[in-house]
Amino acid sequence: SQPVLEARAVSKHFPAGRSTVRAVEDATLALQPGRIVALVGESGSGKTTLARLLARFYPPTSGEIRLHGETVKGKPRAYYSDVQLIFQDPFGSLNPLHRVRYNLERAVKLHHAVRSRAELDQKVTELLERVSLTPTEQYLDKFPHELSGGQRQRVVIARALAVEPKVLLGDEPISMLDVSIRLEMLNLLDRLRTEDGLALLYITHDIASARYLCDDIVVMYAGRMVEGGLKEDVIANPLHPYTQLLIDSSPDPERRDRPNLFDAEDLGEPPSLIDPPAGCRFHPRCPFAMNKCRTETPPRTELPEGRWTHCWLQENA
Ligand code: SF4
Repeated sequence: SQPVLEARAVSKHFPAGRSTVRAVEDATLALQPGRIVALVGESGSGKTTLARLLARFYPPTSGEIRLHGETVKGKPRAYYSDVQLIFQDPFGSLNPLHRVRYNLERAVKLHHAVRSRAELDQKVTELLERVSLTPTEQYLDKFPHELSGGQRQRVVIARALAVEPKVLLGDEPISMLDVSIRLEMLNLLDRLRTEDGLALLYITHDIASARYLCDDIVVMYAGRMVEGGLKEDVIANPLHPYTQLLIDSSPDPERRDRPNLFDAEDLGEPPSLIDPPAGCRFHPRCPFAMNKCRTETPPRTELPEGRWTHCWLQENA
């Protein structure tokens, strides 16, 4: 089916004094209804910048964003309802001076022409039920600081649902929550995609949660996408050395028989995006780096089953 939201060869550069931060370079990504894509990478890999580009917080330096197949200029009205971004910190995204009821009512009124108090109450109740904050009377009159982190994030999601979005962009939506409730939140996201056919982008540094939740994985490193494909394929058979590093450094009881390529001790740090390495940005850390890797950016190599990667090893294979 046609993607709801797409980034095509999108780059974003920010001026930083006399230098330029090359936060995202040549990113291509498509979100389909009812599918969850995990965007995985370390902090500083450009994931959040890409989410903000997709949410039209700012325009790309080059490339295009498409919503329902149409190139987007500026931030058209459809964007406000169709694409919702959920942040890591639920505290920051709720108005602390207002009760849950008001936070949700405002969102409902933005999107629906509500005719009566009863209708508004009903919509707000439904939203709380959808995110499993029941009995709803227990939550309606609470202020954000009276809720737990997980409850606050549920309210944030309820508010996002109030405008009936087609796409949810979750930027590390569980990383600030208690470990004990993370799984519940992932299950909630999974349920929303099934019930509403939402397209979901799940941004994380944690490959284990990506493995649990998503259908497809896209891996970013230092502002560039390095590999993508079906979750099972990418995890069972990572093609890009950086993906191998990510998987090797994440504990997995079902690890298949592949020797660890990387010693967690000498991983090194991801590079600065102000003056990123030439050629393949991973070459300073890559055990397979060849001369070519230091000067030429590897192109996207398409492989069967929707797999792709940017690595000279595959290009030469
Ligand atoms: Fe390593 Fe070269 Fe592949 Fe980059 S292009 S990941 S440096 S082999």
